[in-house]
Amino acid sequence: ADPLASVLVLENLHKKFGALVATNGVNLDIRQGELHALIGPNGAGKSTLIAQICGEIRPDSGRILFGGQDITSLPAYQRARMGMGRSFQLTQLCADFTAMENVLLSLEAKGGGSIDIFRNPRRNAVHREMAQTWLERAGLGDQADRVVSNMAHGQRRQLEIAVALARHPRLILLDEPMAGMGSEESASLTALLQDLKREYPILLIEHDMDAVFALADRISVLVYGKVIFTGTASEIRAHPEVRAAYLGE
Ligand code: ADP
Ligand code: MG
Repeated sequence: ADPLASVLVLENLHKKFGALVATNGVNLDIRQGELHALIGPNGAGKSTLIAQICGEIRPDSGRILFGGQDITSLPAYQRARMGMGRSFQLTQLCADFTAMENVLLSLEAKGGGSIDIFRNPRRNAVHREMAQTWLERAGLGDQADRVVSNMAHGQRRQLEIAVALARHPRLILLDEPMAGMGSEESASLTALLQDLKREYPILLIEHDMDAVFALADRISVLVYGKVIFTGTASEIRAHPEVRAAYLGE
């Protein structure tokens, strides 16, 4: 992988949990301007890999380069500040706050965090305008005042993306964002990601193969903690081992 063209490079990552091998020498690179999908059966190690990229879990060995810099031993919060845009779990949205307030909190976290966002009127107005822009970008322009607990599942997923965008990510990591969505919701998230991928490199873990084939510039297949193949959608479709291992054909 060319570290200049790649926003993220994973080199020979290994991670065991006791005797269980979760990540068995993963090599992967995410290039500028690409949406890279990671597919593979349950238990293949996809979420564990994202956790290693974010810094929630340390690999036993191997290296992670982000923007050409070795971040293997940096803590998660420093990676987040460098622009590692993890789509947070739903539980990390504040359910009693509005969509607008959740994005305001994200903006404030990026700025280093003083808790006057809801009080200081001038900063409030400027931040509200910025937050509104991110809500619109995520397709929630008319949902600013909705309380999260009253929002539909798909809208919460979009709000997570607005929250991530507000921190100016250099890479967006999404772990099964379509899970639990109806076909209408996944179609609208697919359209949103189609729009975002022109501007942000994205690593997308997803079981919805329609979405993966529609969106991915490259697809990597992870089986038992190893990337067995990386290629375009048509290369993946034509690959016998992948069809057998994953597509079940
Ligand atoms: P995927 O996201 O591809 O379904 P995971 O990365 O969640 O797979 O899990 C890979 C394997 O690692 C699974 O066998 C899982 O049970 C195991 N695993 C994940 N996290 C831990 C942990 N914190 N402790 C022990 N085992 C774990
Ligand atoms: Mg998972």
